[in-house]
Amino acid sequence: MKHPYLTEDHEIFRKSLKRFLEKEAVPFYEQWEEERMIPRSLWRKMGEQGFLCPDLDEQYGGSGVDWGFSVVVNEELERVGSGLVGMGLHNDIVVPYINSFGSKEQKQRWLPRCVTGELITAIAMTEPGTGSDLANIKTTAKLDGDHYIVNGQKTFITNGIQSDLILVACKTNPNAVPKHKGVSLLLVERDTPGFSRGRKLNKVGLHSQDTAELIFEDCKVPKENLLGEEGKGFLYMMDKLQQERLLVAIAAQTAAEVMLKGTIDYVKSREAFGKPISQFQNTQFKMAEMATEVEMGRAFLDQLIAEHIDGQNVVTKVSMAKWRLTDTAKKIAGECLQFHGGYGYMEEYEIARRFRDIQVSSIYAGTNEIMKTIIAKNLGL
Ligand SMILES: Cc1cc2nc3c(=O)[nH]c(=O)nc-3n(C[C@H](O)[C@H](O)[C@H](O)COP(=O)(O)OP(=O)(O)OC[C@H]3O[C@@H](n4cnc5c(N)ncnc54)[C@H](O)[C@@H]3O)c2cc1C
Repeated sequence: MKHPYLTEDHEIFRKSLKRFLEKEAVPFYEQWEEERMIPRSLWRKMGEQGFLCPDLDEQYGGSGVDWGFSVVVNEELERVGSGLVGMGLHNDIVVPYINSFGSKEQKQRWLPRCVTGELITAIAMTEPGTGSDLANIKTTAKLDGDHYIVNGQKTFITNGIQSDLILVACKTNPNAVPKHKGVSLLLVERDTPGFSRGRKLNKVGLHSQDTAELIFEDCKVPKENLLGEEGKGFLYMMDKLQQERLLVAIAAQTAAEVMLKGTIDYVKSREAFGKPISQFQNTQFKMAEMATEVEMGRAFLDQLIAEHIDGQNVVTKVSMAKWRLTDTAKKIAGECLQFHGGYGYMEEYEIARRFRDIQVSSIYAGTNEIMKTIIAKNLGL
């Protein structure tokens, strides 16, 4: 399938990334799933080859290319396995906050090492008591001389164990009205006193992805680690959550394409009652329905990516893509598993892992219900 925003240069880049992943990731992926972790060495190798944050400015070590290259990276990582999602989060979610809202000093200090893979980043918004209702977070950051004293707990944090630099949403003014005006973003470094990691969480899927709890107990964060301005954290998040949701939509669409292709191959090769199961009308109709959903999803998504690259306001359409494409991918996962019969329930078959992994796509980056509240609000309801 051709994407309207991709040129020959993107395809050359895709080929070299694919070759790299076939050598450095595909043969080890199942082992990483069992070990419940992607090794740091993969981050460094990705960095060495220019596959981390390619859209970042050259002065910070990036290649200064358009975001279409980042789309290619996310699609190819998803083709290997959804457990690599932490790299997309680093490249296209956390690093862009620093790039957009960070001071020159902050950018010089951290961005070059984000590009080489020496620094792994994370973003900590969600807390045990609140996820969807972000303005209601309870982690506090109180200014005391040259430091913020941070107290609170975060959970479900992608790259939580491995991260070296964490963007933490906290309340610098817990009494602000409205509540969201009290939210600020602080960059917390690995060895900051009072910062520790909690449990590495045991998930239904995304086994190789590192997801953890983070704990802040009188954690002393230098005041120069504030990102942008105090009280503007919520606005920054509402801005950057758009690209985060787009990433989830891209991954879901890619996963749907992979699952459908694998299943078409399977039904052609599996026989029942003396003929390939692809010959049954039920199989053909289901494949036709799924192929239609996938094709229509791709058309909507490609148009949306082009508008995002063009800098247009995509809030409503991103919310539409996020709920619809993840919902469709979940349905496709179920249908595709069914066509594999008993083998679909066996871990040796990729569809089993994809069925588990896709479930979270309707939950994280804002649940699909929250996406619908945004769409409804923007419809004037
Ligand atoms: C694998 C994984 C990785 C994650 N990575 C990160 C990360 O890196 N950083 C981070 O900060 N967070 C991360 N999260 C957290 C994720 O973003 C939250 O789980 C998500 O936003 C939902 O919040 P919650 O779990 O508190 O659910 P809740 O907010 O408690 O929601 C529970 C249910 O209520 C529904 N609901 C809530 N409010 C409304 C409403 N107004 N209208 C209708 N329905 C509503 C929800 O849709 C949901 O179905 C991750 C989660 C997972 C599972």
